[in-house]
Amino acid sequence: MGKPTGFLEFERQSEGYEVIESRLKHYKEFVPHLTDDKAKTQGARCMDCGVPFCNSGCPINNNIPDFNDAVYRGNWCEAIEILHSTNNFPEMTGRICPAPCESACTLGINADPVGIKSLERAIIDKAGENGWVLPQPAKVKTGKKVAVVGAGPAGLAAAQQLARAGHDVTVFEKNDRIGGLLRYGIPDFKLDKRLIDWRAAQMQAEGVKFVTKTMVGKDMPKGVVNDATKVMAPAKLMKDFNAVILSGGSETPRDLPIPGRALIGVHYALEFLIPQNKEVGGGKKNPINAKGKHVVVIGGGDTGSDCVGTSNRHGAASITQFELLPRPPEQENKPLVWPYWPTRMRTSSSHAEGCTRDWSVATKEFIGENGKLTALKCVRLDWKDGKMTEVPGSEFEVKADLVFLAMGFTNPVASMLDAFGVAKDSRGNAVATTEGAGCYATSVSKVFAAGDVRRGQSLVVWAIREGRQCARAVDEFLMGASVLPR
Ligand SMILES: Cc1cc2nc3c(=O)[nH]c(=O)nc-3n(C[C@H](O)[C@H](O)[C@H](O)COP(=O)(O)OP(=O)(O)OC[C@H]3O[C@@H](n4cnc5c(N)ncnc54)[C@H](O)[C@@H]3O)c2cc1C
Ligand code: SF4
Repeated sequence: MGKPTGFLEFERQSEGYEVIESRLKHYKEFVPHLTDDKAKTQGARCMDCGVPFCNSGCPINNNIPDFNDAVYRGNWCEAIEILHSTNNFPEMTGRICPAPCESACTLGINADPVGIKSLERAIIDKAGENGWVLPQPAKVKTGKKVAVVGAGPAGLAAAQQLARAGHDVTVFEKNDRIGGLLRYGIPDFKLDKRLIDWRAAQMQAEGVKFVTKTMVGKDMPKGVVNDATKVMAPAKLMKDFNAVILSGGSETPRDLPIPGRALIGVHYALEFLIPQNKEVGGGKKNPINAKGKHVVVIGGGDTGSDCVGTSNRHGAASITQFELLPRPPEQENKPLVWPYWPTRMRTSSSHAEGCTRDWSVATKEFIGENGKLTALKCVRLDWKDGKMTEVPGSEFEVKADLVFLAMGFTNPVASMLDAFGVAKDSRGNAVATTEGAGCYATSVSKVFAAGDVRRGQSLVVWAIREGRQCARAVDEFLMGASVLPR
């Protein structure tokens, strides 16, 4: 433990933000990492709890008290080693993780929790800047070949672990660049895409091969981005590789099939966000332009918030975000919920940039003129015992030129799972357990599944966990035993 009285002496340290007016003019990240002094003070606040709840609150069980202490002592090389021992991509989670570890931090019971995520970011940024993140190629090759289908965080984590265990790993990706939703989905102002390229270079030096623009399986449904110019038959993968990992995510967007859905101006969120990522990455202009438009975002989660941030950067005339659920409390009831993830009001940096938010609202109809969206017809909801009813006489209209449907994703693309003959659960996810013998194995021999394709739409940190654990399961399947961590 760095400083026994640190938690009494120091306030939580903030990373700070570039001011709104200036950051709205670009798509670059606007949160600088902590200075060394602030990071040291942040580390000093950690109480090195006998039972570190932060560690169990973190899906990848980061060894948080130890890296907090290392930062406090200025032992940055030790800190990155500790961090990398549980997390392949702290440069991602240090930026975009909602940090369930901080909700679980003991200090959070009666004070602000330790800013764990800001330390994670400071550690990996310093390691990157100083060239401490080097390839770790396997010393001995096994001669076994593994195919990974889908280059999101789950597939990438699995691929890196398996390459380090000595296997020949090839990652197939239908899009033109790797990264999954890290690349095409999450906006550049939240995550600089050069970080994905930087990590990919390390993985390539460790022997991982990336094959992009190659779709495994059959065609993709409407609303799912697909840059593939080549199709790879599952039978060929099964023949050429000793094991296959399906990590294709959960890409089927939830629709709102109400009157007017076909009007020009009603889009799935990713129809707006992905072309924006591509434009920022040097591709052609986003065909959807929110400049001067009245934008309504339906859905109150991360995806919706990303549509708000992007619309503000376009220069939208107004942005309204509707959520079906009731407005959450400003603060959680700590004694009731700690150390679990609390339901409470969350205002993202994108919301802070300008957005009218409204809760307990259902959209009944998209209204249009000459085939183009002009307004939404909505109704207020009353929630009792988890059930919603429409409030009589509460119908209202809101002006809209653009609507983004950000209501989540229902299931993985069925055609990919069906092409392998993998069993699906009632929600359409690949069936595979996460514990015990045969974990992560699907119903088809030598085919495994990890990430959103198995658990449904989730978080990057869960995808990394599943990728790592799946890699160990595959290593055990191929070699009879594994030294990879779970
Ligand atoms: C807009 C948005 C914002 C988000 N923001 C956050 C956030 O801030 N923090 C957070 O923790 N989580 C966030 N999430 C959730 C998070 O991105 C996902 O949970 C995570 O990326 C899932 O990882 P994955 O590897 O399982 O799948 P994905 O990231 O979806 O990657 C799957 C990859 O597989 C490829 N693929 C699919 N089928 C095939 C096929 N047949 N052949 C070849 N390739 C295929 C896809 O093209 C894709 O690249 C966000 C999600 C969205 C949509
Ligand atoms: S719970 Fe908080 S104070 Fe305790 S060890 Fe973890 S980060 Fe430190």
